[in-house]
Amino acid sequence: MGGLRFGYHVKVKERPVSAVENGVAAGCEAIQMFPGNPKHWGTPQVTDEDADEFLAAKDDAGIDPVILHSIYLVNMAAPSDPIFNRSVASLASTLGKADRLGAFAVVTHLGNHRGEGDEFGVNRIARAVTSTLESAPGEAMLLLETTAGAGTSVGHSFEQFGAVFEIAGAPDRLGFCLDTCHVFAAGYDISIPAGFDAALEELDRFIGLERLMLVHMNDSKGECGSHLDRHEHIGRGKIGLGAFRYMVNHPSLEELAAIIELPHEGPDSPDDIGLLRSLVED
Ligand SMILES: [Zn+2]
Ligand SMILES: [Zn+2]
Repeated sequence: MGGLRFGYHVKVKERPVSAVENGVAAGCEAIQMFPGNPKHWGTPQVTDEDADEFLAAKDDAGIDPVILHSIYLVNMAAPSDPIFNRSVASLASTLGKADRLGAFAVVTHLGNHRGEGDEFGVNRIARAVTSTLESAPGEAMLLLETTAGAGTSVGHSFEQFGAVFEIAGAPDRLGFCLDTCHVFAAGYDISIPAGFDAALEELDRFIGLERLMLVHMNDSKGECGSHLDRHEHIGRGKIGLGAFRYMVNHPSLEELAAIIELPHEGPDSPDDIGLLRSLVED
């Protein structure tokens, strides 16, 4: 039996292998991590020794997949050329790092058009995707993630992703990440089964379900349509436990990894993974 593989976004301290250690301690089967300091440009390089150590530890622990999350500064829709170019360079070097660490993919938010409009943003992002994949000709996938739709952020409707995929020519190494908190905040009412099914149908129409390669499984502090990007522990937010039970048993999510993006710090922290696993029906 396949089923979802659960994990957390974990911290990295000094050597990359610390991410695997933190993941194991939190009960992860999959992990997500930053490639470096998420608030600073520049991707720290991986030495051969660091890479070997990481690969051995991840295989020993059975952690699969490993996902890298782009740094906060990346803005593929940036009207400013320097920011746009730095964003492409950052994504490309993160893809390179992903290959070194045997990671499956780099996941990234699209960015903000800063008042230039959605059409401008979509075209700019498609160009960024093309340049990024050209400058990092490895194996790791680039996954574009849904956003809650605050301010001028692009990526709050599946239609916008569909446009990006189409303009970029739907390259093989481009995939999609569904964040449950973000789509709910963006206005898709996935707290009820019919709403989740409708969202998947729309996803399939504009992007294609085969492009869905990762789920960020977060509950939401904000209401549906609030545009608030505020994650909550599973079952404690406005999406609710019943909805997560429906999602973890949904055939469309089978074989995917589900990453929880909340700190898991020690035994006092809620066991989101254990809770999600308990919802899975054989
Ligand atoms: Zn996310
Ligand atoms: Zn978020």
